[in-house]
Amino acid sequence: MSFNEFRRPISVDSAPRGSQCEWCGQPAVQQLTAIGGRYHNDSGLFCGSCGEKFAQVVMNSLHPATAEAETH
Ligand SMILES: [Zn+2]
Repeated sequence: MSFNEFRRPISVDSAPRGSQCEWCGQPAVQQLTAIGGRYHNDSGLFCGSCGEKFAQVVMNSLHPATAEAETH
């Protein structure tokens, strides 16, 4: 994992058997649910590499919100 395990705004569950990655169609290995940022409650089934990308997208979405919260 390339991101901080403690700060990741993602809930990870096992993907149901036979499910496919939403982004590339390969067999999914995990179901990810965003628990923060603009993707809150957005979830999907992903293979390993797409799961990392999804996590990164959610992580990136948090930065503007964090910066805004700190300035108010
Ligand atoms: Zn994929």
